[in-house]
Amino acid sequence: LEPAYSFMIRVRIPGGDLTSDAWLALDAISDEYGNKDFKLTTRQAVQFHGIIKFDLKQTIKAMDKALLDSIAGCGDVNRNVMCDPDPTQSKIHAQVFPWAKKISEHLLPKSRAYHEIWLDEGNGEGKKQVNAPEPEETVEPLYGKLYLPKKFKIGIAIPPNNDSDIYTNDVGIVAIVKDEVLQGFNIAVGGGLAMTFGRTETYPRLATDIAYVKPEQLLEVVTTIVEIQRDYGDRTDRSQARLKYTIDRMGLDTFQTMLIERLGYELDAPKPVEFKTSADNFGWHKATNDKWHLLCFVEHGRVQNVEGSQQKQALKEIAELGVCKFRLTGNQHVLLVDVDENDKDKIEAIFSKYGLSADASHLSGLRRNAIACVALNTCPLAMAEAERYLPSLITKIEPILEKNGLINDEIKFRMTGCPNGCGRSVMGEIGFIGKSLGRYNVYLGSSHQGDRLSKLYKENLDEKQILEEMDLLLTDYANNRNKDEHFGDYVIRAEYVKATTQGLDFHD
Ligand code: SF4
Repeated sequence: LEPAYSFMIRVRIPGGDLTSDAWLALDAISDEYGNKDFKLTTRQAVQFHGIIKFDLKQTIKAMDKALLDSIAGCGDVNRNVMCDPDPTQSKIHAQVFPWAKKISEHLLPKSRAYHEIWLDEGNGEGKKQVNAPEPEETVEPLYGKLYLPKKFKIGIAIPPNNDSDIYTNDVGIVAIVKDEVLQGFNIAVGGGLAMTFGRTETYPRLATDIAYVKPEQLLEVVTTIVEIQRDYGDRTDRSQARLKYTIDRMGLDTFQTMLIERLGYELDAPKPVEFKTSADNFGWHKATNDKWHLLCFVEHGRVQNVEGSQQKQALKEIAELGVCKFRLTGNQHVLLVDVDENDKDKIEAIFSKYGLSADASHLSGLRRNAIACVALNTCPLAMAEAERYLPSLITKIEPILEKNGLINDEIKFRMTGCPNGCGRSVMGEIGFIGKSLGRYNVYLGSSHQGDRLSKLYKENLDEKQILEEMDLLLTDYANNRNKDEHFGDYVIRAEYVKATTQGLDFHD
């Protein structure tokens, strides 16, 4: 008898954009094949956990029926393309948002293997099956026979929001807008957060701005960057395989020269941009097209029904109304978008029926700004808890915030179960990375707007030590901060940590 192997499936959702029917399909799939819940990831995707091996095919077929897939959800290819999901600036957003899908589709592998293996394409119809040799015309034009040295990530931001943390991507794309018309994009290269404990040759790095491109150049420029990484990325050591190491190894100037040579034309210098926040803007907001959207808090992205909170059921009933679309945020929450004024009450009524607040105004600023990765008990790489622990840790820190008058302060707070970076801990103004069960390294000093990494503050702390440090730091911050000074900036001014100015300085 074979063991009951279970799997995680990640759904590719460019820009986190879902119809209400697709949301209902996700809900049904999690009930029928998964753990009866699903996880909104930090890359605007969805993960199902606990899919038994014998249900894999039915799960993927059910996704396909809802026009969803997991192609390039994992693997050494371009992953889910992120985009600022907030439609408040609707005229600009409508011009920028489709680029997430365009880039995602442009960089998808062309192989039909996924369809043949999971969707029975070609079965019994005399078409090619996966074991047959690839005809010349189906060889991957971009990825070739060996694909990329490692995963590749792309994100798009619309200033002043950096809610998709674009500098953490291999390619970060920033929309440049004038008079509500999209002019072009800044391109930043070489972001990525993963590192390995004890190996200082591995480090997180933020992407560096290198160029400004017109919209019609974007696909070609992004593709050429992927091609350079395909050709020059390290294929001998996976810990050195991401684009960030390729760039630091060859030098940024050499990388830029190679990009221009391959493109055959010069690129303009990046335009000045200013980001104000990387946080989500909870509650109801009206876009410039007079439609409303509601940003709902989902604690650490886990859509579930538990005692005291039937949030999954409430969101299902809202989807059944068919009065909005769903859009996932890079901070693990969900937006209900394109709501008519007359339909707001129907949505509010469903939240009220389950005793839920539609927004997050009743929560502390720390909780509103917290991110945790899956970690234990489903991620095999986890060394410590994250998602299952962070809510209770925040509950223990909230009295410290309360006594210092900081309960509503927006402080980015992040936790992961290992240094792979899925929960972007090193982009937290306060970040924790698990070292072993119950013990965490503490990182401080990322900027609130997501353009500076944090730095190691203390190692291997248990909960008691964490709470002592939080008391010390938060009390000092409350007493000595300047007006409007963010926590991440304060801890650098107060010399708790040095500012990390580039990835190579991270371990200094
Ligand atoms: Fe797993 Fe580490 Fe990613 Fe957390 S950061 S989900 S523990 S790989």
